[in-house]
Amino acid sequence: MFREHTKTVTIGNKKIGGGNPVLIQSMTNTHTEDVEATVRQILELEAAGCEIIRCTVPTIEAAKAVSEIKKYIHIPLVADIHFDYRMAIAAMENGADKIRINPGNIGGADKIKAVVDVAKERNIPIRVGVNSGSLEKELVEKYHGVTAEGIVESAIDKVHMIEEQGYDNLVVSIKSSDVMMCVKAHELIAQKIAYPLHVGITESGTAFSGSIKSALGLGLILNQGIGDTIRVSLTDNPVKEVEAAKIILKTLGLKKGGIEVVSCPTCGRTRIDLIGLAKQVEEMVSSYDYDLKLAVMGCVVNGPGEAKEADLGIAGGDGCGVLIKHGEVVRKVPEDELLSTLKYELDHWGGTG
Ligand code: SF4
Repeated sequence: MFREHTKTVTIGNKKIGGGNPVLIQSMTNTHTEDVEATVRQILELEAAGCEIIRCTVPTIEAAKAVSEIKKYIHIPLVADIHFDYRMAIAAMENGADKIRINPGNIGGADKIKAVVDVAKERNIPIRVGVNSGSLEKELVEKYHGVTAEGIVESAIDKVHMIEEQGYDNLVVSIKSSDVMMCVKAHELIAQKIAYPLHVGITESGTAFSGSIKSALGLGLILNQGIGDTIRVSLTDNPVKEVEAAKIILKTLGLKKGGIEVVSCPTCGRTRIDLIGLAKQVEEMVSSYDYDLKLAVMGCVVNGPGEAKEADLGIAGGDGCGVLIKHGEVVRKVPEDELLSTLKYELDHWGGTG
């Protein structure tokens, strides 16, 4: 497990690396300068399970907003900086818990030194981020195109730029929208450096395709013990990123808690609106923190059997359904009461489960 041997890095009130749990990160899509909207979105993301939030800081106003935003949120805030080193300094002076920069694009050694000096003084971690889309020309030529090897070399060069300034409070991220290239790059870099890795498949697409690509890429990477924080990047509401990230971590056994809904694919035996019901159930259970499995099955012929491994479940009949607990049918329920019955059971789960 590479992640057991990475350096422990403290980001605000969270620790990553060194075998700490893999944390879920997301990014706001509000204007950071708009404190009210940004706080609102961060609180929504916190409620969904986001553990570290990143906000873009393209202006001095955005940097100043960081200190206001931080008064109302409860998770560490990472300032995302592009090109202008002064924004990195301003974000740190305004309380950013971490900054994300690409040392290759902030304007030379003196600018890097200026940023590192402030980070050092305040002990703020720096995430060194490189992206396949901005790989240096020399590396593209050396490796005959954009390759995993080139991305890794670029990232290690950037890490050295900061280490040369005597600073090693670092997190590294390497990103590519090519899933398999991204996987290979992580396999390579995990063997070369011991800094915590922030892992994500960049520009992965809309909620459906992006979640699939991210699950595949992150799954392959995380399952090798690589990765200390993750982000699922989606062209959608960032709450969906957090929900997808939670499912990925739970599926890999890297996160506990929260209800897991299993549901059948429906077939010719289904006589209730199972697709609609399963969606409603999934939404309803997101507010419960029990560590249990809930089955939503389409029929009473196979449903109870298939739901045996679940703690709680329902199986549809014709205009009705049955409530199942630990694989046993408990009672018959009219179709329009199935959701409220499940809710009742969950509300009283401590006493009956
Ligand atoms: Fe079909 Fe019943 Fe199986 Fe659902 S549980 S797929 S309805 S047989």
